[in-house]
Amino acid sequence: MEKVDLNHVLFGIDLEAAQELAKREGLPPYRATQILEWIYKKNIESFQEASNLPTATRQRLSTEYRLHALSLVEEKASANGESVKYLFRTIDGELVESVLIEQQKRKTVCVSTQLGCKIGCIFCASGKGKFGRDLSAGEIVEQVAWIQKMKAGAVTNVVFMGMGEPLDNFDETMRALDILQAPWGLAMGPRRITVSTSGITPRILDFVKHVGGRVRLSVSLHASDDAKRSRLVPINRKYGLGELKKTLAKVHHSLKRQITFEYTLIDEVNDSREDAEGVARIAKPLHAKVNIIPYNPIEEEAFRTPTDEKIAMFRRVFHEHGIRVTIRKTAGRDIDAACGQLRLNRKDSERRAKDG
Ligand code: SAH
Ligand code: SF4
Repeated sequence: MEKVDLNHVLFGIDLEAAQELAKREGLPPYRATQILEWIYKKNIESFQEASNLPTATRQRLSTEYRLHALSLVEEKASANGESVKYLFRTIDGELVESVLIEQQKRKTVCVSTQLGCKIGCIFCASGKGKFGRDLSAGEIVEQVAWIQKMKAGAVTNVVFMGMGEPLDNFDETMRALDILQAPWGLAMGPRRITVSTSGITPRILDFVKHVGGRVRLSVSLHASDDAKRSRLVPINRKYGLGELKKTLAKVHHSLKRQITFEYTLIDEVNDSREDAEGVARIAKPLHAKVNIIPYNPIEEEAFRTPTDEKIAMFRRVFHEHGIRVTIRKTAGRDIDAACGQLRLNRKDSERRAKDG
């Protein structure tokens, strides 16, 4: 895939880049923050809307730069109304998916960080097919900014659980986290943001350092022994459970919030009592909580969703050990887009391109 030129796109710039831009354009430094606020807070369609900038500046910015890296293609609500899938098109014609999940007062946007995923967990649709490319910080933040704008500022939480492995696109993910939190950016509190990883251990250390332990960390565990985990999550062959546990033990004191282990529960694969006990042994010393995600069937694999009894048994085992547990509702299955199960649908992309 060609490398897309995002140099002239303003979505994704930070304070330093905005200051350079102001200097280049012969503007006083305070204009940098104004420009950033028009981009991120107001998410304007055109610089003509930037009413506190001089007319000549508006004109120049409009002709010299492009504001957005994404455009909205489609918005599709699930039948139960709890989630909405958004499809965006990138400048190079690729499709990016995000999901808004509404539960009570919480409105969570699930963002994608890559087109496809190189990790290739066997039960995950995102890892099937060819890897496209990393998304830029601007492309990541724009998913939130667009949904925020369309829903009149209602986004309360952001989870990095869409397509892609955030820590495999480290630099852009960190820049996106900075913009989401910056006062001139989306000004979101760090504990409202969660990064989910399949366990690239050296990058977990870098991530915790970068965010000062403030952004929440979720680790996709899915198995409590190396043989099983390597089969389900191939990155485990490189960074095994021993190393993962050691890394998490090292960072968990500097994290301001509990670690969450995500556990995709698959019938007859990782749903025995022994599996549950194994997860409890890993979670307990780290004071971690566990989020059980009942497997959501994908076309390519013959796995099955676990029975309700098994889900209940898992819950019981964690309770017995005093471990907090949540069970994710499979919201949005009917739109094929519960968070964490997004996929590249190239056929769709080609069809839409033809339809114009
Ligand atoms: N790459 C990151 C974040 C995206 S995946 C990670 O793996 O953590 C977000 C979550 O959805 C992961 O825990 C993943 O294992 C889970 N998931 C993926 N496919 C699934 C499926 N078919 N059913 C249930 N959960 C799934
Ligand atoms: Fe990638 Fe996460 Fe899917 Fe694994 S579960 S293939 S790491 S997106």
